[in-house]
Amino acid sequence: MGELPSPAPESKADAARRLLDTELRRHGRLVYSNSLGAEAVVLTDIIWSHLPGIDVFTIDTGRLYEETYQLMEQLQRRYQRRLRVVYPDAQALERLAAAQGVNGFYASVEARLLCCRVRKVEPFRRGIAGYPAWVTGVRREQSADRAAGASVVWDAAYDLYKISPLLDWSETEVWQYIRAHRLPYNLLHDRQFPSIGCSPCTRAIQPGESRRAGRWWWERPESRECGLHPRARVAVNA
Ligand code: SF4
Repeated sequence: MGELPSPAPESKADAARRLLDTELRRHGRLVYSNSLGAEAVVLTDIIWSHLPGIDVFTIDTGRLYEETYQLMEQLQRRYQRRLRVVYPDAQALERLAAAQGVNGFYASVEARLLCCRVRKVEPFRRGIAGYPAWVTGVRREQSADRAAGASVVWDAAYDLYKISPLLDWSETEVWQYIRAHRLPYNLLHDRQFPSIGCSPCTRAIQPGESRRAGRWWWERPESRECGLHPRARVAVNA
């Protein structure tokens, strides 16, 4: 049975469209780094349905869940668009495996950050290269660090603007939008995975745990970021 779109996510989706449209006109080009999580499904729908001029890419670290690849295929079929996939540099990956082994990231925070750098951060740099601004699906609720952000900031780590159209969405609103529009989503979300990354570094959370508790669970909470969202930011627009 169809579900009527709830006014809150629909008006927030309008605001997200307007923000992206304004920023696209302002910069001329935007690129969306698609994480393939629940927020990404919402942003993909907004961008591929209404703002096809925004370029989209995702990073295949080589360690993703099969469910994530299935979602890539579903999105491409639904919108009849090809998702640009950026891969780690093959030689850097071979050097990484030679130095720390294939699962060396469990050994220390430094080893884990090195793996994230090779498999995520460097491909991300290639994905955004040449663009004046990038789009991300982060929300304030996701972590204490993200709570302090603004919807448009100067991203000093990468020398371009960072646009977060879903910053003030709640998790409930994300799911209301997904259900109302019957969007495909990663089936791991139905198995207590609120946040999905690489398979060896993501697990289901237990009742009462924070939504980030399943990411790099063996580390202390303050180190649990992959490096794509550095902590120092300069807000230019709320
Ligand atoms: S999340 Fe884990 S497997 Fe993926 S890049 Fe980071 S350390 Fe490597």
